[in-house]
Parts: sequence; C-alpha cells; structure tokens
Amino acid sequence: MPTDCLFRDDSYLKTCEARVIAVTGQGGIVLDRTIFYATSGGQPGDTGTLTTVEGAVVPIATAVFTDAAKSEIAHLPAPGAPALEVGDTVTAAVDWDRRYARMRMHTALHLLSAVLPYAVTGGSVGEAESRLDFDIPEAGLDKDDITAKVNAMIAGNAAVTHRWISDAELEANPGLVKTMSVKPPMGTGRVRLIEIAGLDLQPCGGTHVKNVGEIGKVQVTQIEKKGKQNRRVRLALV
Ligand SMILES: [Zn+2]
Repeated sequence: MPTDCLFRDDSYLKTCEARVIAVTGQGGIVLDRTIFYATSGGQPGDTGTLTTVEGAVVPIATAVFTDAAKSEIAHLPAPGAPALEVGDTVTAAVDWDRRYARMRMHTALHLLSAVLPYAVTGGSVGEAESRLDFDIPEAGLDKDDITAKVNAMIAGNAAVTHRWISDAELEANPGLVKTMSVKPPMGTGRVRLIEIAGLDLQPCGGTHVKNVGEIGKVQVTQIEKKGKQNRRVRLALV
C-alpha cells in the first residue's frame, strides 16, 4: 500500500496523525501517511517516535522504503519498543533538530553541485558534514574558493521551490531538461523538480529548506582524490 508522503509537499511538518496499516515481517510499521523521510538519495531515514492514543511511545530508529518503486515506507522501531497493531492511531513525530540540519545540508549540496557543474557519482547527507563525489578529470579544486562561492550563493537568499511535472509535460518542454543539472528519471509518470531560483534545477526526492539563507555558513573541509577521475568534496555547517 503506498504511503502518503507528507514530507514531499511540506518538509517542515514535525508531527502528523496516522494509522497503522501493516506491520512487515521485520517489524517495520507501515502508516497510511507519514512525515518520516525514508533512506534514499544518500540521505538517511528520519528518527523520531510514534505515540499511541494510550500514550505508549515507540522510538523509531530509521525509516526505509519497502519496495523498489519507493512508494511504501516502513518505520523501523528501536529494539525493545512496544508493539503496534494494524488499526492503531498514532502521532508520528520526527527528531526535528536532526532533520532540519539534514535539510540545510542537503540544500547546501545542491549549491555545491551548482558551483561544481560536473557529473555527480555519489553523495551522503549527514547532520554536521556531507559529501558529494564528482567525476572531474583533473584536480585543481580549491577549498577556500569553493567555500566562498557556496557562501555567496547562501547570502543571496534564493527561494527553494518544488513542483511536480508529468513525463508528458517534460517531453513537451525539452528546454527544461537542458537547464537541469541532473537528468530526470522517466517512466514513473511524474517527476519532482527542485528549483533554487536562478541557481539550480534538478529532479530530487529529498527534503530542503525554503530559502538558502536558512543553511547558514558552510565550509569545504576536505577534497579527496577517489580514483582517477573522482573527487570527493566534503562540506560542513559552521
Ligand atoms: Zn535535493
């Protein structure tokens, strides 16, 4: 059963009411709707709690998709958590400080990819530090230079918006694909586009802040050589 992923339309939701619609073989709790981001795209699943109307609290260690199509989310309880049953009503709450830090970091990675317009081969979002791997033929990247460019973008306070577009609309607007930094996946019917006004446009399912100014100051902490053509750039919130 597909989960209604409320975080996709409003990443600032901290709590929501939901109903347990399934419990997986591994004890994962499937809700009809959720604000928990599920592990994907290098961003870890959210931690938090599910609280029953009777007041029982189930700590959630992470959230994951149960299917390749990424339509259903299971909330994985911490060991020893009280059991929930199908039909239970719960209040879901994410650990907001951690999630918000990840939103800031994730959005900062979009800016990093705008400063370094090369193919991205990997990435990871953490609360304090994140990284992107770029396919760059030669070195010569300067930490301070990249830091200054990303911080200048942050200081511009550009709005971050999302919109859904159908495969058909995308095909009818080839210019859109040209301006995107990442080619959208086709064939799923619709694509979620994230636009940072004047700076970046790409398909992305992650959680972002509304305005790049919310990121605050960042710093490139390390640039590592990972293989012949790969450079790993680490970025931290400061
Ligand atoms: Zn994103």
